[in-house]
Amino acid sequence: MKPEDLVRPEILALKAYPVASAEGMVKLDAMENPYTLPEELRRELAGVLSRVAVNRYPTPTPQTLLDALARRMDVPRGMQLLLGNGSDELIQIVITALARPGAAMMYPSPTFVMYSMGATFSGMKAIPVPLREDFSLDAAAFIARMKAEQPALVFLAYPNNPTGVLYPEEDVVEVIKACKGLVVLDEAYHVFAGKSLMPRLPEFSNLIIIRTVSKLGLAGIRLGYLVGRPEWVQQFDKVRPPYNVNVLTQAAALFLLERLDVLEDQAARIKADRTGLGKSLAALKGVTVFPSEANFFLIRVPDAEQTFRALKEQNVLIKNLHPGLRNCLRVTVGTPDENRILLTALREAI
Ligand code: PMP
Repeated sequence: MKPEDLVRPEILALKAYPVASAEGMVKLDAMENPYTLPEELRRELAGVLSRVAVNRYPTPTPQTLLDALARRMDVPRGMQLLLGNGSDELIQIVITALARPGAAMMYPSPTFVMYSMGATFSGMKAIPVPLREDFSLDAAAFIARMKAEQPALVFLAYPNNPTGVLYPEEDVVEVIKACKGLVVLDEAYHVFAGKSLMPRLPEFSNLIIIRTVSKLGLAGIRLGYLVGRPEWVQQFDKVRPPYNVNVLTQAAALFLLERLDVLEDQAARIKADRTGLGKSLAALKGVTVFPSEANFFLIRVPDAEQTFRALKEQNVLIKNLHPGLRNCLRVTVGTPDENRILLTALREAI
């Protein structure tokens, strides 16, 4: 017997989410915070983690952590949180809950690949609606398509990945108001955008916000959080695997939320360095830079494949978006040193 005889054809046709090996590389491919925790904090964290009862299953609703997140992330009163093993898991949970037979999801395209992957996993119909050439959102066209297709679920990444573009708030609100289904606003990069619909969440009964601590500097602990009305969260909670957020992650998150200023300072540094990197990239001959409100830039070069390979030979790892996006590469904002190395390598590669 072969897997091909039993595995669903749409799974056979998929490629696993690609994660490149980064051994010895300047790693600018995954929108991580390049800074580690300060030494003293690392020692304290080690102490905290050493006291965690790893022999016990995690608490599914860790109230202290939920309260700390709600307070530090300005979650409006009356809204409820759900934790995920990264926001990836929360995306899948929402899709699983809404994937009635024949139901469709819609999203501007290109966007984060896990929305369409999740649709495939759950047998939901995915309807990508193309962004404009400059990756801005044509809200009127999107709304017209929504009216025609009546999706049960709409994903908006705010700002978007892999483009970095932040859609105007008015356009996002228009989409939410016009949508007869649930809108998931994915605010993975909100710390770099300085924009969020979190304060306005109570205005809309069909809005959910998904966030992550990954881009803030904690990608390794895998923690995402979903915020919405209790009646939505109660449904999604049924789909969540019982012990999805492990005890070490819970303890680390609680400890670091109390010292959030350290991570926020790092994010502010990244945001400040983004400006200089954007200008330097734009000054390179043959490079087009798209405006970004996230911690990365989408760039277009004459030959993405060749540039990607040349950079790799110089031990600089970035993301080649080929073939989805014609001649586009995505580069994460790194430390000032890493950004300099990237620029030098790019200058030679193009
Ligand atoms: N949403 C968006 C828009 C992303 O770009 C990413 C990470 N690439 C995620 C969600 C997933 O983040 P995580 O699973 O690390 O929380």
